[in-house]
Amino acid sequence: MSKVHANKAKTQSYLDRYMEGVGKRNPGEPEFVQAVFEVASTIFPFIADKPIYHEMQILERMAEPERVISFRVPWTDDKGNIRTNRGWRVQFNSAIGPYKGGIRFHPSVNQSILKFLGFEQTFKNSLTGLPMGGGKGGANFNPKGKSDLEVMRFCQSFVTELYRHIGEDTDIPAGDIGVGGREIGFMFGQYKRITNRFVGVLTGKGLEFGGSKMRTEATGYGAVFYLENMLKHHGEGLEDKTVLISGSGNVATYAAEKAIHLGAKPLTMSDSSGFIHCAQGFTEEQVNWIKELKEVRRGRIHEAADEFNNITFHKGERPWGVEGNCIIPSATQNEVSGKDAESLIKNGTSYVAEAANMPCEQEAIDAFMQANIKFGPAKAVNAGGVGVSGLEMSQNSARIAWEEDHLRELLENMMRDIHASCVEYGSEGGGTVNYLKGANIAGFVKVADAMLSYGHV
Ligand code: NDP
Repeated sequence: MSKVHANKAKTQSYLDRYMEGVGKRNPGEPEFVQAVFEVASTIFPFIADKPIYHEMQILERMAEPERVISFRVPWTDDKGNIRTNRGWRVQFNSAIGPYKGGIRFHPSVNQSILKFLGFEQTFKNSLTGLPMGGGKGGANFNPKGKSDLEVMRFCQSFVTELYRHIGEDTDIPAGDIGVGGREIGFMFGQYKRITNRFVGVLTGKGLEFGGSKMRTEATGYGAVFYLENMLKHHGEGLEDKTVLISGSGNVATYAAEKAIHLGAKPLTMSDSSGFIHCAQGFTEEQVNWIKELKEVRRGRIHEAADEFNNITFHKGERPWGVEGNCIIPSATQNEVSGKDAESLIKNGTSYVAEAANMPCEQEAIDAFMQANIKFGPAKAVNAGGVGVSGLEMSQNSARIAWEEDHLRELLENMMRDIHASCVEYGSEGGGTVNYLKGANIAGFVKVADAMLSYGHV
């Protein structure tokens, strides 16, 4: 066996043993194990000739959250029934700054999903270049079909426990699926009431009470800026590119809007009931209508097909059977399967920008890589959201508010720099960039080196 082959075999056996341990220590947590595998499979080859990371057990420590808090959230519905949900905050890694990451309200939320999201967040936050550690939280609460008052009572009860674990220098939550401006307002109001302090403890706040301009747009816009950087790096542009988008929430609608601004044609959007398709590409007016439908009226996506006669609705389906040059999955985890990937590849898709967290299953990622599709991983593509949250924290600390143009420029520069870091660590010769490897390593190095400095903590 050649030396190169022997080294590869040794690295593979380290990875296998490591993953066996992660699997044993986290039974019943498949999403978390999947996320650790995705990172570890690119980090092990990188640290093969850097024994200090092995000796100091850096990857073992990184796969263990610093703290997981789980708590009861009792609340009363409009009929006077007492309801009970479970809430969590996973404080994953504070090596490079206070814990930072969103709160998700969705019936599917469990500890595995929040651990995967907190783990991913650690690398993502590192990639932004800002001093933020990784965290995530949420509850298995379904806001769908609940009245504003029910959502308010739930948020207040959630924060009545959460407030003691968070703080502007400790842990700064934000929004995520099911948690938008309305919920952040309710939570911030309750935090302020309990603590009698007006501080930047949550991000994504309303502009009237410390929110940052560009935060609402940041994740979707940032994802499109990243995709544009990927295209430019390969000598192409967004102009006239057809783009398949899933989801119709915060990330999806702003991704569609920015894609239109930059000359691309978003053809699809979706929600959990199916997808809508517009062969000519949505107009900005249609995207604004969908924003209003989902954010204000809290309706279902098929209503867009009832309203506009060039839009069709496909019940129970995902958009991945449509032909498109690029895809921006922006709904939820594991929404692109290996089979979906095969169909996209056959239909000529050549760029994938993951705007949701872990939307592609491992089989899909493998298929994209094998077919030489340019694959932008979530922790890089959607980092603009937490990036502008970091800028909201800076504005809150200094008690100032920056202008929109300035923030847009900072976001664009941040996405350009994240793309450049991924290229730096992910170049594999012959012009090929492994963005997944690049993002993982670039995010890893800073956190790992900070952990080395701290000794055994
Ligand atoms: P929203 O709640 O605003 O929107 C979520 C969208 O995804 C909705 O259209 C929802 O449809 C759809 N969706 C949710 N679950 C499923 C499912 N199981 N199957 C199909 N569709 C589903 O969330 P965001 O736009 O904020 O978040 C979307 C993704 O982006 C998530 O992965 C999130 O973690 C990630 N992200 C968000 C950031 C942000 O700043 N908001 C930052 C970084 C990442 P329905 O209305 O039917 O539920």
